[in-house]
Amino acid sequence: MKAALPYCALGLALLAALPAVAADGVTALHCPALVDTAAGKLLGASTVLIEGNRVREVRPGLVTPDGAKAIDLPAGSTCLPGLMDMHTHLTSETSRDSYSEGFRLNDADIAFKGAVFAERTLLAGFTTVRDLGESGNGVSVSLRNAVNQGMLKGPRIFTAGKSIASTGGHADPTNGAKRGLLPDPGPEEGVINSVDDARKAVRQHYKDSADLIKITATGGVLSYAKSSDNPQFTVEEIKAIVDTAKDYGFTVAAHAHGKEGMRRAILGGVSSIEHGTQMDAELFPLMKQHGTWYVPTIIAGAFVSEKAAQPGYYPEIVRPKALAIGPKIKGTAGAAYKAGVKIAFGTDAGVFPHGQNAREFELMVEAGMPAMFTLQAATTHAAELLGQSNDLGSIAAGKFADVVAVPGNPLEDIGVMKKVNFVMKDGVVYRGP
Ligand SMILES: [Zn+2]
Repeated sequence: MKAALPYCALGLALLAALPAVAADGVTALHCPALVDTAAGKLLGASTVLIEGNRVREVRPGLVTPDGAKAIDLPAGSTCLPGLMDMHTHLTSETSRDSYSEGFRLNDADIAFKGAVFAERTLLAGFTTVRDLGESGNGVSVSLRNAVNQGMLKGPRIFTAGKSIASTGGHADPTNGAKRGLLPDPGPEEGVINSVDDARKAVRQHYKDSADLIKITATGGVLSYAKSSDNPQFTVEEIKAIVDTAKDYGFTVAAHAHGKEGMRRAILGGVSSIEHGTQMDAELFPLMKQHGTWYVPTIIAGAFVSEKAAQPGYYPEIVRPKALAIGPKIKGTAGAAYKAGVKIAFGTDAGVFPHGQNAREFELMVEAGMPAMFTLQAATTHAAELLGQSNDLGSIAAGKFADVVAVPGNPLEDIGVMKKVNFVMKDGVVYRGP
């Protein structure tokens, strides 16, 4: 009781300092516990005061200033900043049928799917995503705009539009099609084969209103092509992409499984390596030296190796790649963490069903990362990778009012991250009491 007195007194003093009239239009969110991701600490009962779409103040204890509207979260709940997934594909979801979708679906079909996947992602607690490679022509940009205009429920989207690949590369949209059936794609479709093409493709993304650039620096698992890990750009092409991207304020995310393509991407100056399957003791120091982020997507590896065991789920050209690459990512992520590589949370949602993104937290802990580190990977680290640390990544005065809650303490049981039951984005409640 004695220890509690100064705490209460402090709360009252702060409360008294706030003029009653100023609390009109303020929401007082009562959190039984709150994760301070900036400090890496679990705080006790806290009140988040929200005005408009921003956090005005965070106070210790459960307080309701005069005129404020209170939201009480259930006992045992823990509040966290809105979660951030740095690798999603909101306009697709892989299934047994998805390999023929490129021939069957129009952009409108893809857009309606994207609207459903975006809402599912938001309700799972992910209030911000990077969308790294769309299906459909410009659909992810339209989805972002529709969410921003309040027409659809979805996360705050930073989209790379169409992934940039080379001919036959992981994101060549005509892979597997009969020759002559589709026109040969060029830089306007995100397929490049020279330094000039590289510049044109980046400038096309600017014209198409993308937020960043994604390249497929090596082969990949799910594309209809033989290699999962061969290098697919020259260093000169990657440098041309990164240099041109800088002119437009874009960062560059690089899909990479194989070592040589990854090395070229790091040397070329990309901001993040996605998947990074064959990253090792030789590449960890290079990542650190260049300040390159690692976005592991362990869940995607786990999912494709599970599905590859079911005959017929993937085409035969894909199955051996999924079996070889899938199980390795978790080990790489653990080793990268130990080596001190910067890690941001990302899942590759769309490779597995949207809305299950939070399983990645469990897999990161299994890989050897502390629970608090995984929460920071999905908040403060992700905000830094996005260049949005002033607005996102922690619950603090002046930042966007993106707050989620889980029924329990994620530092004791990381599994509760899969049970998000309160979601606020931009000060608007989308899920919860
Ligand atoms: Zn991906």
